[in-house]
Amino acid sequence: MTTRTRIAAGNWKMNGVAADLAEVEAIAATGARTSEVVTLLCLPATLIDRARGYGVSLGGQTLHAAKSGAHTGDISGQMLVDAGATYVIVGHSERRTDHGESDADICAQAGAAWAAGLTAVICIGETEAQYRAGETLDVLRGQIAGSVPQGATPGNTVIAYEPVWAIGTGLTPEVPEIQSVHAEVRAALGTHVGGGENLSVLYGGSVKAANASEIFALEDVDGGLVGGASLKAADFVPVIEALAAS
Ligand code: PEP
Repeated sequence: MTTRTRIAAGNWKMNGVAADLAEVEAIAATGARTSEVVTLLCLPATLIDRARGYGVSLGGQTLHAAKSGAHTGDISGQMLVDAGATYVIVGHSERRTDHGESDADICAQAGAAWAAGLTAVICIGETEAQYRAGETLDVLRGQIAGSVPQGATPGNTVIAYEPVWAIGTGLTPEVPEIQSVHAEVRAALGTHVGGGENLSVLYGGSVKAANASEIFALEDVDGGLVGGASLKAADFVPVIEALAAS
């Protein structure tokens, strides 16, 4: 039986300056105590190097598909590794929307992450309109086919299912719905790539202390990708502890 890695991942987005490293330190202190789970903080690029040494895993929030070159304002996988990252989020819905990133772009970024030695956290998720139209599974299967490269393994790839309408809204699908979608995502991963059903699949979208335990108890949920509730140790530590206890 494959044991899937359980991950409590925080996505700080465009939040955080040096003064906030105290939160990283406090989060990392808990993460270090809960060896059953990987505590991952995907920080702004400016903070990654400064957060080294606290004992928490560090990740970037995006990367360019090219190794280097004339791409003003972008960041490469090698740069993230150099700063101390071991993971990188790709295909977050905010990148898909704000920067027009396509499945093909995300697939190329995931490949670039692997080439640099990073684990890619590939995000997929349907919009509210797609959800209301009953298109969730078709959308997710399409995103898996288009944005998860062949060669994905539990060692180089994590999937985050994030319904776009649940991100930052306080809304979440019903708990049984999360389980059934995760089971379908896992099946689609298995169809798309050999062994894909063994990838860790995180749930993201308004995870917080109050709902973490019931979500993390679900059979096909291997952890969470958490935005707002990852910024403060007081909010994120209970989420990490809920995952460790599940
Ligand atoms: C996210 O940005 O990936 C996210 C899930 O945000 P939040 O937890 O704030 O909904």
